[in-house]
Amino acid sequence: MAKMPKPEEMIASRASFPEKSWMDVKTEIKAGMYAYPAKVDIMEGLHMPHPHAWQPEEEDWHLPENWEEIIYKALKERLAKHRSLKIFMDTCVRCGACADKCHFFLGTNDPKNMPVLRAELLRSVYRRDFTTAGRLLGKVAGARKLTTDVIKEWFTYFYQCTECRRCSLFCPYGIDTAEITAIVRELLHELGLGINWIMEPVSNCNRTGNHLGIQPHAFKEIVEFLCEDIETITGIHIDPPFNEKGHEILFITPSGDVFAEPGIYTFMGYLMLFHELGLDYTPRCTRKPSASAPNGSSAANAATCGASSTSTWRPTTAPRPKA
Ligand code: SF4
Ligand code: SF4
Repeated sequence: MAKMPKPEEMIASRASFPEKSWMDVKTEIKAGMYAYPAKVDIMEGLHMPHPHAWQPEEEDWHLPENWEEIIYKALKERLAKHRSLKIFMDTCVRCGACADKCHFFLGTNDPKNMPVLRAELLRSVYRRDFTTAGRLLGKVAGARKLTTDVIKEWFTYFYQCTECRRCSLFCPYGIDTAEITAIVRELLHELGLGINWIMEPVSNCNRTGNHLGIQPHAFKEIVEFLCEDIETITGIHIDPPFNEKGHEILFITPSGDVFAEPGIYTFMGYLMLFHELGLDYTPRCTRKPSASAPNGSSAANAATCGASSTSTWRPTTAPRPKA
């Protein structure tokens, strides 16, 4: 069995706090420490702004020429649109109640992973560009200029937040760092900076309706296979209609539920429950009317996964299995 370090050894091995103020600590981007950038063709396919090739470890991230203006405008728009963001930018009292609630901070001991400081990475720029005190007093008022180093810092630390919202549960003002994280990721996207781990599943959803990119016919075959298993085990025949108009419920399931264990058991459970309740539903196995079916007809949609558009399927009335 592997030798487990003692708690005091684990504490001693943690990185120590930097001696300088956080604003003076430049973000170090090292191999193995960042998420890979989104592929250009994926960003283009999603019509994201400024798709371009870049590498986190390189000095030049090839930002658009007017990148400062883009960020200023995008942040201004979001401050106007989301009242909560404006409140989160103005109300933190540095009580520190959130500081040790973030698993990223507990794991790295990096102060910029404290939720209070993660938010401050944006708040400092907000102060300089959107508050009088920040404009007049600068660093004294906790304000700083937006630079490419700040952009790199945002990329590093706002992708070290899972948006779990644990910190917000402990904040006496309800400041939601997850919402701030989401906004900063939007700002980064305005410059063409996304990560593949997120954007490729988004692209899959856009093309196929599920993040794994399962094609409609494969989705249908998997569900039919699961129905066969249900019949083998319970003797109940279930034959769901796919992508049909006219049903009471459009059933959209997470793609993990048709991809592998244990999700498939959840999905089989849904099917059996719906059958038992006699629900009038149709599972969706494609995204939306495709370009080849511009009229959006249910026939075109159904044809995508080989289902009949004229079926009048209803749950069968097979008897319940005996206990
Ligand atoms: S929402 Fe983000 S900052 Fe807050 S605890 Fe979760 S991971 Fe940490
Ligand atoms: S708990 Fe809320 S008010 Fe206190 S430091 Fe964290 S974000 Fe600021």
